[in-house]
Amino acid sequence: MAGLYFHIPFCKQACIYCDFHFSTSLKQADEMVDTIIMELLLRKDQVEEPIETIYFGGGTPSLLSHHQFQKILNTVRFNFLLSDLLELTVEVNPDDLSTEKLEELKTLGVNRLSIGVQSFFEEHLKWMGRAHTAHEAEECILLAQEVGFDNITIDLIYGIPIMSDEEWAQNVQKAIALGVPHISAYNLTVEEKTVLSYMVKKGMTQDVDDEQGERNFQYLKDQLLANDFIQYEISNFGKEGFFSKHNSSYWLGKKYLGIGPSAHSFDGKVRRWNVSNNSVYIRGLKSGAPSFEEEVLSPKDRVNEHLMIGLRNKWGCSWEYLNETGLDLTQLKTEVVSKINTGYLEKTAGGFKTTDQGLLFADAIAADLFLE
Ligand code: SF4
Repeated sequence: MAGLYFHIPFCKQACIYCDFHFSTSLKQADEMVDTIIMELLLRKDQVEEPIETIYFGGGTPSLLSHHQFQKILNTVRFNFLLSDLLELTVEVNPDDLSTEKLEELKTLGVNRLSIGVQSFFEEHLKWMGRAHTAHEAEECILLAQEVGFDNITIDLIYGIPIMSDEEWAQNVQKAIALGVPHISAYNLTVEEKTVLSYMVKKGMTQDVDDEQGERNFQYLKDQLLANDFIQYEISNFGKEGFFSKHNSSYWLGKKYLGIGPSAHSFDGKVRRWNVSNNSVYIRGLKSGAPSFEEEVLSPKDRVNEHLMIGLRNKWGCSWEYLNETGLDLTQLKTEVVSKINTGYLEKTAGGFKTTDQGLLFADAIAADLFLE
């Protein structure tokens, strides 16, 4: 089984914290769709297995027209095995969602929406540079439910310097009350070369506060667990049957083909990533010399990557997978036992995973266990 990812590199405006690849000029949108199709056809033989999940991320995929989506999905239908397709997700922004748009997405076979809500407060949305209003954030969820989408996830951001703990609590309660079965929540981080990083350096806004982030996260976790959500990955909470199948396949080490500028692919051993520049991406494919880099994961890389990913999710790490690398893991085994004894890790049927307590320090524990 494999996944297909499409990176749609356009946004209406730049959010101050964002370091994803996107352009705010839509001039190249048609040419980009044609080039994405070109790349898809060029690389279709790299996936022999049936496709289980398709994911449109970005950028803002909901900026694509019905016709542009149709062109890409028709190419997928003619060239890949879709008999086992379980999930077709599109990332959407609230300001792009009308009843008509939602119905179009439904007719395309989209069965999961990932809505970039971030906050239900106007003040936060303005501060973050989001293109939607607080009213749209709420309204689009109700509209999507009316149109018949039951598999909806929303993104929320916590740790925003201008957000009080009380406002965060209201965001969480509103998400629960709206009945969405999946929530991804991210701690605001100040990434290099973003407007936010400039603002912090110039003293135009307060820096993020780790303690606020921890408090907000703890509140979120307590409330969601009390409301039948399961934390199946450090930032992802879903009700039974609503975990993201596409993202879970990344965490379970399955193969995926990533199409579009900056998209990543993984075939089990080789990781490949396309150039993060729209014009260079288009030129490369048109000239027959696609611009990408790749790296063959060494056995040590595979161990470290498995630790990094596995300790952040509920499935944990598998000794069978780690042993397949053929490396001497004696030292790792000793360290895992010691972290089990201190309560940060626990045994699973075939391996180990973080405890509730350990999950809070997943990255640090993984770093401790990494092979040098
Ligand atoms: S809409 Fe999403 S991808 Fe676009 S700038 Fe904002 S956070 Fe980044």
